[in-house]
Amino acid sequence: MNYKCTRNETEQVSAAQAIAQGISSDGGLFVPETFPKYDASVLDALQNASYIERAERILGDFLTDFTAEEIRDCAEKAYGDGKFSGGHPAPLASVQTGFAQVNLLELWHGPTCAFKDMALQLLPHLLTRSLRKIQSDKTAVILVATSGDTGKAALEGFKGVDGTRIMVFYPQNGVSAMQKLQMTTQEGGNVAVCAIEGNFDDAQTGVKKIFTDAETKAALERNGMMFSSANSINWGRLLPQIVYYFSAYCDLMKAGKVQNGQEINIVVPTGNFGNILAAYYAKKMGLPVHKLICASNANNVLTEFLRTGVYDRNRRFFATISPSMDILVSSNLERLLYDLTGRDSAKVSGWMQQLAETGRYEVDAAVLHALRGLFYAGFCDDTQTAETIGGVYQSSHYVSDTHTAVALRVYQQYLAETEDQGTPAVVVSTANPYKFATSVLLAVDHAKAVDSDLENVRTLHEITGAPIPQPIAELAGKPVRFAQTCIAGDMKRSVLEMLDVEE
Ligand SMILES: *Cc1c(COP(=O)(O)O)cnc(C)c1O
Repeated sequence: MNYKCTRNETEQVSAAQAIAQGISSDGGLFVPETFPKYDASVLDALQNASYIERAERILGDFLTDFTAEEIRDCAEKAYGDGKFSGGHPAPLASVQTGFAQVNLLELWHGPTCAFKDMALQLLPHLLTRSLRKIQSDKTAVILVATSGDTGKAALEGFKGVDGTRIMVFYPQNGVSAMQKLQMTTQEGGNVAVCAIEGNFDDAQTGVKKIFTDAETKAALERNGMMFSSANSINWGRLLPQIVYYFSAYCDLMKAGKVQNGQEINIVVPTGNFGNILAAYYAKKMGLPVHKLICASNANNVLTEFLRTGVYDRNRRFFATISPSMDILVSSNLERLLYDLTGRDSAKVSGWMQQLAETGRYEVDAAVLHALRGLFYAGFCDDTQTAETIGGVYQSSHYVSDTHTAVALRVYQQYLAETEDQGTPAVVVSTANPYKFATSVLLAVDHAKAVDSDLENVRTLHEITGAPIPQPIAELAGKPVRFAQTCIAGDMKRSVLEMLDVEE
C-alpha cells in the first residue's frame, strides 16, 4: 500500500517512508491511498483475538512493506509484557453516569497515564524499522516541544530504544507540577529534558529552528545521526489509534452488549483531531458507527466548524482545566478534508493556505453536508466540566479526569438534543484522573484541595478509593535527573551538548 499527500497530487511514498519522514516536503500530511474494508466475518475473527493480535491484523493491512514478523515484534514490544497495567491496554468500563449508561474506553493504563501512550509506545519501534527500510543506519534524534502530556509519553516510548536519542523541551511555567515532575524524573540513558524560559510557542519555534538548521544537520550527519519526528501528524501515531476502536467494538460483542453489525456512537474529547480522525477511519473501514461525537472545551473552534463549515482560529484562547485540548489549530483535520473532498489536494491546499494567511477558511456545501451527516459537535466550559466530574462521581463512584468529563458532558447534550436514545455509546477516556488530581479533587470535594498536586493525589484517593496508578504513586520518591533550564536562544547548544557533538 502506498501513501499519498494531502497537498500534492503526484507525491507517493511507502509506509516506511511516510513514517520516517513524518510530514511531506510541502507541509502536507501522508494518507493511505486505499483503506481495507472489514466485514462482519473480520469482526467475528477479531472478537476472539487478543489486543496484540487485533493490532497485528490492522497494522499489517496498512504497513504492507513490513513483514508479519516485524509487525508482531513491534506490537509485542509496545503492548506486551506489563507495559500497560491490568493486562488489557484499552479496557472498557461500564458506567451508569446518572444520565446514561456508557462504556468508557480507558486509554490511560500505559506508563504515563494518558492516551498518548497508545501510539507513542508503538511509534519508536515502527520508526526505527522504517529508517532501516529506507536504508538509513543513522541514529534517530527526536526533538519534542511539549505543553505537557506528549513530552512524557514520547520520553517513555523512546526510552531505551536502540538507535534513538530523545530530547524534550517544555515551558518552565507552562506545565502542571505533576507533568513537570513526570518529565524531570525521567529514566533512561538516551533521554534528556530541559525547561525553557518562555512559553510553549517559544519552545516549539526553537525546536523547528534546530530541525532546519543546516549547521546542526551537518554536525549530526558527521556523527552518524539524523533528526526525526514523533509529531502527532505522523501516520505512525495515527494508525495505532484505529486499533482500539475495533478492539472496543469486539469487546462489546464479546460481552453480549452489541450484536455484530449493530451501530454504536463514539464520543471523543478532541484537541488536535487525531483521536477522532482514527475513529472516522475505523468507520470508513466498516466499523458500525452511527455518529462520531466531537467534544471540545471552551476552545470550541471545532464545534463551530463542524456545525457551520467555517474554521476560524481568530478568537480568544482559553487556558482550561482540560489543557491537552487547548488547541486552536487542529492539524489532523486536513486529512478528513482530503477524504471528504474526494481526495482533492488542490482544494485542501487552498484552504490550508487561507488558514496560514488569514486564520480562516470555509468549506463548500458538499463537504459541510458530509460533516453534518458524520459528526455531532458540542463543547462545555470549565464549570460544566467540574459539575460533570462531581455528578458522575455521585451517581456511580466513577472518577473521571477533566478531558473525559468534557466528552461525558457533550454526550449528555447529544442525548438531550437528539432523538437518538438507544444507540450504545463508547466514550473515550483519555487520562487517568490522578494526572489532573487538583482539578478533579476541586470538582469532587472543593474544600479539600490544597496547593500541592501530590498531596491532592493522596486526598483524592482517601475520598474516592480509586487506585493510584503505579507511575504516579512512585513519583514522590524519584530523584530529579533534569533540573536544567535554558533560554530559547541556547536550545541548540543544549541539543549538541546532550548528543556530545561539536558544531
Ligand atoms: C492529547 C489529548 C487529547 C486530545 O487528543 P487529540 O488527538 O489531539 O484530539 C485529549 N485528552 C488528553 C488527556 C490528551 O492528552
